[in-house]
Amino acid sequence: MDKAKYLTISVDDGHPTDLRSAELLSKYGLKATFYIPKANPERGVMSESNIKKIAENFEIGGHTYSHQPLNRIDYDQIKKEVEDGKNWIEQLLGKEIIAFCYPQGKVNRLALKAVKASGFKGARTCMYNLNDFPRDPFLWGGKYTCLFSFHTNTSQARDIRK
Ligand SMILES: [Zn+2]
Repeated sequence: MDKAKYLTISVDDGHPTDLRSAELLSKYGLKATFYIPKANPERGVMSESNIKKIAENFEIGGHTYSHQPLNRIDYDQIKKEVEDGKNWIEQLLGKEIIAFCYPQGKVNRLALKAVKASGFKGARTCMYNLNDFPRDPFLWGGKYTCLFSFHTNTSQARDIRK
């Protein structure tokens, strides 16, 4: 049987220059998921009004509240980061978000548990060259890097043969 092929594009961190990525993706009719934290100690995050603008045409995914690598904090802190990030975006956009991306792709057993328990339907990692449909929807691979990755799937995956 022919295996279905999927492609999704994700843009992580909500940097102000991601508005340009959104423009280009729109220009070429491509869908993508933008994973955005409320804050990021590594670099700036765009304004909430720009996040809303991107959300008009693209899916927004959870990327924690303050972009902490989840493998370095305890379960209660992980849960708070994941839930606070989800609640913040849902309040901002007035709708449920279902896709999550682990900051820096760092995932362990506790992070997996917290993301599942927080109501997400799937999560992306930064595991390289994992481009088969994953057995666990909370461990989608990421082909390139966490900053801009073409990876296998989230909620907006589509069959690229069509
Ligand atoms: Zn990130």
